[in-house]
Amino acid sequence: MELKLFNTLGREIKEIVPIEDNRIKMYACGPTVYKDAHIGNLRTYIAVDILKRVLTLAGYDVTYAMNITDVGHLSDDADEGEDKMLKGAREQGMSVWDIAEFYTKAFFRDTDALNIQKPDIICKATEHIDDMINLIKRIEENGYTYFAGGNLYFDISKFPGYGKLALLDLSELKAGSRIMIDENKKNPYDFVLWFTQSKFEHQTMLWDSPWGKGYPGWHIECSAMSMKYLGDQFDIHCGGIDLIPVHHTNEIAQSEAATGKKWVEHWMHGEFLITSKGKMSKSTGDFYTLNGLKEQGYHPLDYRYFCLLGHYRSQLQFSLEGLDSAQNARKNLGLRIAQLMKQAKDTGDSGNPEEVEYYTSFISHALDDLNMPQCLSDLWNLMKSTNISPGLKLKTIRLMDKILGLDLDKVTIDTAIDDEIKDLIDKREQARKNKDYALSDKIRDELKQKGIVIEDTPEGVQWRKI
Ligand code: AMP
Ligand code: ZN
Repeated sequence: MELKLFNTLGREIKEIVPIEDNRIKMYACGPTVYKDAHIGNLRTYIAVDILKRVLTLAGYDVTYAMNITDVGHLSDDADEGEDKMLKGAREQGMSVWDIAEFYTKAFFRDTDALNIQKPDIICKATEHIDDMINLIKRIEENGYTYFAGGNLYFDISKFPGYGKLALLDLSELKAGSRIMIDENKKNPYDFVLWFTQSKFEHQTMLWDSPWGKGYPGWHIECSAMSMKYLGDQFDIHCGGIDLIPVHHTNEIAQSEAATGKKWVEHWMHGEFLITSKGKMSKSTGDFYTLNGLKEQGYHPLDYRYFCLLGHYRSQLQFSLEGLDSAQNARKNLGLRIAQLMKQAKDTGDSGNPEEVEYYTSFISHALDDLNMPQCLSDLWNLMKSTNISPGLKLKTIRLMDKILGLDLDKVTIDTAIDDEIKDLIDKREQARKNKDYALSDKIRDELKQKGIVIEDTPEGVQWRKI
């Protein structure tokens, strides 16, 4: 099975051909751990998770590494602004080390809840400073750096392919369209590999280096850690599209300057989750967290389902109404699966799911640039089909779920309730949303008489048979 994936480098859909045998080595830029991730960040990690699951199902031996940025990411992706970690620590009255630990744990709680499989390698920037220093030394030895104003810079004029990923028009530099803020830079696109002149009075994260006591630039982190764990060349590098023009552009320049070889074959970028006001972002304050959604009664997998409704290369507009539809669809799926489980008891489950036409369609859509919206419609077409036995349907659904990651194999037969009861539960939820508590209590009593108990939990409304 071959996966065709859009490659930002070259802007075309290309087949993934492993550099080494059947192995795929992939890397994703991890979170900057100074605040809870917002659900936009999580959309990107769901997209990367889908990629990893598809590659695995396609038979590749996948190694996935992700970093944790706990130093060096300034509020501007270039070299301006304050270190996000320092700012977060100051605002929250904690040490940088403590907020790093706190939000790293929070991040993995979120990703676990979303069924995002853990990367094989998780590496923290602050534990890899020596690797960064060694990589910077290689770049320096190859003649790509200069020292100015106490910082070590990468000189982009020495690297002819600079900007190839972002299709940057470097001639615009001559027109001076990008404002030069750092006077030490020879060229506005030059960037810091190592800071010794801390811009911030309270910089507490400092390490000795050949260029003086200081701390690394953000971009060098990813080059150093990915090369340490995946080698000087690897297959796929992932992130959100905002990383293309600066972070990934600089990662390529410094990595290829160090090795003299092409670094990464394939670049995968996820589009933004947006709100009615634009990109969901921590800095504007216009964002939701997964915990926030849970408090409003949604299950994390409702959000995963919501994300699967959009192609990873298209912007996805978030709204609670959209999330409600995803929630209903996921509930419906559970109910139908439970019905199938009941029916399958009598009819058996003979047949090979890989030969079911809806599965072949599903897998071809997954292999075609991870087309999850189409995969979901294949799932629903299978569900509605009349020519497949309940048992074979179930096996096929479970196989599909290896990619979708919606816990469809965890549905139990108890999920099956008749339509009348399901209708009452929905009506009660609607009444609660409308704050019509008299009606919701009345429906609760009616359900009780039918042998169904309702509980409102942080995970949403749960019910059980008495
Ligand atoms: P950060 O923690 O800010 O370094 O971002 C983590 C990841 O989330 C990066 O890959 C970003 O490109 C991505 N990201 C940031 N904002 C959004 C958004 N609104 N939608 C999707 N991905 C995003
Ligand atoms: Zn990175």
